[in-house]
Parts: sequence; C-alpha cells; structure tokens
Amino acid sequence: MVKELKIPYGRQNVTEEDIRSVERVLRSDFLTQGPEVPNFESNFSNYVGSKYSVAVNSATSALHLACLALDLKKGEKLWTSAVTFVASANCALYCGAQVDLIDIDKSTSNLSIEALEKKLIQAKKNDSLPKIIIPVHLSGLSCDMKKIKKLSKQYGFKIIEDASHASGGIYDDSKIGSCRYSDLSVFSFHPVKNFTSGEGGMVSTNSEDIYRKIKLLREHGINKESEKMIFEPDGPWYYEQIYLGYNYRMTDISAALGNSQLKRLDLIAKKRNEIAEFYNYQFKDSPLDLPYQDTKNISGRHLYVIRLKNKDIQRSHKEVFYFLREKGIGVNLHYIPIYRHPFYEKFNFDKNMYPNSESYYNSAISIPMYPELTENELSYVVKSVKEAIA
Ligand SMILES: *Cc1c(COP(=O)(O)O)cnc(C)c1O
Repeated sequence: MVKELKIPYGRQNVTEEDIRSVERVLRSDFLTQGPEVPNFESNFSNYVGSKYSVAVNSATSALHLACLALDLKKGEKLWTSAVTFVASANCALYCGAQVDLIDIDKSTSNLSIEALEKKLIQAKKNDSLPKIIIPVHLSGLSCDMKKIKKLSKQYGFKIIEDASHASGGIYDDSKIGSCRYSDLSVFSFHPVKNFTSGEGGMVSTNSEDIYRKIKLLREHGINKESEKMIFEPDGPWYYEQIYLGYNYRMTDISAALGNSQLKRLDLIAKKRNEIAEFYNYQFKDSPLDLPYQDTKNISGRHLYVIRLKNKDIQRSHKEVFYFLREKGIGVNLHYIPIYRHPFYEKFNFDKNMYPNSESYYNSAISIPMYPELTENELSYVVKSVKEAIA
C-alpha cells in the first residue's frame, strides 16, 4: 500500500478558516483594491518587523519593482547567486541592466562571501562594480547579511534580499524581511512556498521613498494623492501618471488567503524545522551532506536539500532521482544553475568560474518538506532514500 504513495517535494496547506476568509471577500464589495490588501501589508510588516510592506501579484513582480525602485538602468550591473530560480536574475534584464553570477558556498549553498569579495575587488579595478546585489536565501536559510552589508558600504551597492524561500526564518534575532541589513526584501506566496496567497508576493522595506515608489509602480505609476500632485488638479476626477508603472496588484481574494495563512506562519516554520530535525537525525550516518545548521540563523525551511557524497554511493545522482521518483516520491532539484539555461547562453558565462555550483548541481536533491507530511510518509521517504544510496 505504502508503495502507491505520491509524495510531492512541497505542497500547500489550506484550512477551513482560510476558505471562510476567502469566501468573506467573495461576498464583499471588493474583489480587488479593497481593505484586505492593506490589511495583509500591515500584518506582514508587523510580522517581519519592517516599517513598510507592499503586496504584489508575485515575487517576480516584486523583484522587478525592487530593481526599478533602486533605479536600476540600462548598462548597469546586478549580481546574484548562480544557484537560484531564474526570476532572481531576470529582473535585471527587465530593466535593461546586465546580470553577473556569484558562485555558491560549499556548506550553506548560498552565495559565497569569499567569491563575492574576490569579484568585487576585481570589478573595482575594472570600474565595473554592481549597482545591486541580490542575495538569495536558498531553502530559507539567510545569507550572511552582516558581511554583505559591510561589503555594500565598502563598494557602494544596494541590497535586495530574495527571501522567496524564507518566510518565517530568523537571522541574527530578527525575522527575515526586517531589512536590518538590506534595502528591501522580496517574498513569494506561490502555493509551493512556505505559505500562500494562490499567487502573490511582497516587498518589505524601511525606506519611505522606496515604499512610495513601489506602491506607485505597482499601479501604472499613477498618483491619486492630491497633496502630491505635480500639475494643478482641474477637476474632482483628476489623477496623474508620474512613472511608467505596471498592473502588479494583488487581489483582495489572494490577500484574504495570505492574511489567514500568515497567522499560522510561526507554526508552519516550527513544523518545517521539526521535519528537518527528523531528517537530520535519520540521515546523520548516511553518505550525505545535510543542510547547514546555525542557532543564529534559523531557516524558513522551504526546502530540505540533501547532497549525495557521490564517491561513496553506487548509484549516480540521476539514478537516485529515478529510483525515488519510481517510489512515488516527488524529488526535485533546486536549481539548475542560471548559466546553464539556453536563454543565458548568449551571456557567455564560464562554467569553470562556478565549481561549487557545478558540484551542487551534480549532487543536490530536494526531498519532501511540508507541514502535512505524516510520520508514515516521513519514514517511507527516509527508508527509500537510504535504499537508494545503499
Ligand atoms: C519562487 C521564487 C521566485 C518567484 O516567485 P513567484 O512568486 O513565483 O514569482 C523568485 N525567487 C526565488 C528564489 C523563488 O524560489
């Protein structure tokens, strides 16, 4: 019986209370541009400890607006981690800017501070320093933000945290998203992430200027506040467009789901960390490298990524994948290094510059991680992984 289990690597959790919250909005006057979005924004700010938050329809939109708010322009440079979802890099190209990639750290799989520092020294010599760096908190584990902040002062770049995996995580006694060491943080509420609004994203920041600009850009660059008009209003209908913005709004339907789920986020993070503890214990003697752990850096645990010690395992990485999929376990690989995508070929990245990203790509496997995993399912996953690498 157990053999027929289909266990994905991640999945959403929707309660009756969530459904009632969404239903309430569906029966109300506003499906969008109502009270639920500002509510979600202020609840989110309270949760992460930032001054401001702006809800949008995805983290991809949030990254685009974050770059625009920092005035990223044609010819300027943005750097991010080589191992991330493509959206962390694409946002630079939306603005006509150039992307460069930083190799990851062997133990945390986040961008390597050592590689970053080397690259900055070189870029300073060539007068090609980046305007923005996007540290990605892979799997939910924060990057070393204190060091990145220090480097940002030295080299004069801005910081956007891609915290799409990291809702509920804690870094240096602050919730990820507090922006203590960054200009902005970006979150995703896609159903596979730590909590969901269907589709959705959020930007948090402590800067009033950035906050205002992102709010305007989210809605076509249109300002409706009379005290901030540039031209003299010529009637009660008057509003003005002051930037080239977009429609990146979140609906009130989505915000209702997000708001309802946000109440459980601490519980969700706790549950995810308990599952990680279980895996850590079960795999402690296996030929695997397990996720980096640090008491000052508590992962939001979007993913649990095992790394195969390939030379100690008979099956190849690919064979272990097939084996586990065959067992009904929806293992996955997060992520294919950016420079390996056909679209990025034209930028001529040199694979040899990314030895740790390459070795990650040849050994990483995301195994199931979501709060509703039962004890039976967890034991089945552990047993199957052990069989696969025996
Ligand atoms: C999911 C994800 C995104 C994009 O999120 P969407 O809300 O789906 O647009 C961006 N960056 C990272 C690291 C992600 O995992």
